[in-house]
Amino acid sequence: MLESSEYLHPDKECLSHEEIRALQVKRLQETMRHCMNNPFYKKKFEEMGVTPEDIKSVEDVRKLPFTTKQDLRDTYPFGLASVPLEKCVRLHSSSGTTGNPTVILHTQKDLDEWANAVARCLWMVGLRPSDVFQNSSGYGMFTGGLGFQYGAERLGMLTVPAAAGNTLRQIKFITDFGTTAIHAVPSYVTRIKEVMDQQGIDPRKDTKLRILAIGAEPHSEEQRKRIEDMLGVKAYNSFGMSEMCGPGVAFECKEQNGLHFWEDYYIVEIVDPETLEPVPDGEIGELVLTTINREAMPLIRYRTRDLTRVLGRTCPCGRNHIRLDRMKGRSDDMMVLRGVNIFPIQIEKILMQFKELSTNYLITLTTDNDNDNMTVEVEYNETPADMVALTKEITRRLKDEILLTPHVKLLPLGTLPQSEGKAVRVKDLRTVYQ
Ligand code: ADP
Ligand code: ZN
Repeated sequence: MLESSEYLHPDKECLSHEEIRALQVKRLQETMRHCMNNPFYKKKFEEMGVTPEDIKSVEDVRKLPFTTKQDLRDTYPFGLASVPLEKCVRLHSSSGTTGNPTVILHTQKDLDEWANAVARCLWMVGLRPSDVFQNSSGYGMFTGGLGFQYGAERLGMLTVPAAAGNTLRQIKFITDFGTTAIHAVPSYVTRIKEVMDQQGIDPRKDTKLRILAIGAEPHSEEQRKRIEDMLGVKAYNSFGMSEMCGPGVAFECKEQNGLHFWEDYYIVEIVDPETLEPVPDGEIGELVLTTINREAMPLIRYRTRDLTRVLGRTCPCGRNHIRLDRMKGRSDDMMVLRGVNIFPIQIEKILMQFKELSTNYLITLTTDNDNDNMTVEVEYNETPADMVALTKEITRRLKDEILLTPHVKLLPLGTLPQSEGKAVRVKDLRTVYQ
């Protein structure tokens, strides 16, 4: 175990496996009792004939029903609340582009615990009250704004609620306020660096940046390394989702060997998305999370649709909270092209191995002469000496990875659309035959 100053909550972060499991059983039983206040869960538990007394081990969570995004939509807005509305002090909501938005309610205790979880993550990667933390994610309904704001304040850092966008202003804040740490989506970090280059600002010499929290969208190990090299910082993967509060669900530690999911807050399962049976450690499946420390709106066995696998259950950092691999994407991000299953992250992984290329890319799927085709557009940093040879080599490497030949187009920096929030990596323009 490291020095106790390495941990913000050593009593929770350094629990043994046995202690974690005992706490999870106790908290799951409490959560179930609490969920009985909610007609949706009460009915489900009764239908399945399961009571809190049936929970004797963590594995007994499998006796409980799953909850899906559709359940949240069907019960929109407050149907999954387990406390009266007057006990709630805040709500967050997803964008709702594909139907009813989903709403998550919070009591004051929920917000306190959420801030504690985020503070714990930030402390884990080495941030301390003397740091200046700039939060460059959207505020408002999006949880990355207020989630990081309260967590960074809880840790005691000077916190700059810069919000997303206005890159020139972001850079001015970084230099004027002596920002040492930033939270942003990985695709936006690249944008900040591009504008720094245009302004003649060298992040290593002209800023105090040292730590970045990057997350909210899938990104590859290669992209992380790019970001670290670009800015001369350490960049840590941050995982969260609004249904589970937002940021603070899981974070990498300094070992950068996977995401530690806080098991005193969540029970983590990885299941086969078809059979819904657990998969062995190391195998990829769908992440299912049960909140065991939430008041307003506990969620039981929430199917996140994120695909990942267990990497380990111990870590040299001294924390025994389960470590999961970086997300491969959501099951709905998977592209099926001529019968081949492809995730955008596979393409990113290859592109990032070419120094000549920037981190901006766009995958477009089209139907031409009844055939599905993929075009990969990617920006280059400097005009390559031999464009044709480079295009050929990228095409070859992509084909090795995804087993079909995409059409590769190299473009000058700044050509592709830039988003300030989560990057849109795939445009599917294929004809759908009924
Ligand atoms: P929305 O559902 O509108 O995208 P959320 O902010 O709740 O809003 O998004 C949560 C989702 O974002 C996760 O389920 C996951 O798919 C993705 N995500 C968040 N953090 C990461 C990360 N570090 N790596 C990969 N994907 C992530
Ligand atoms: Zn660790």
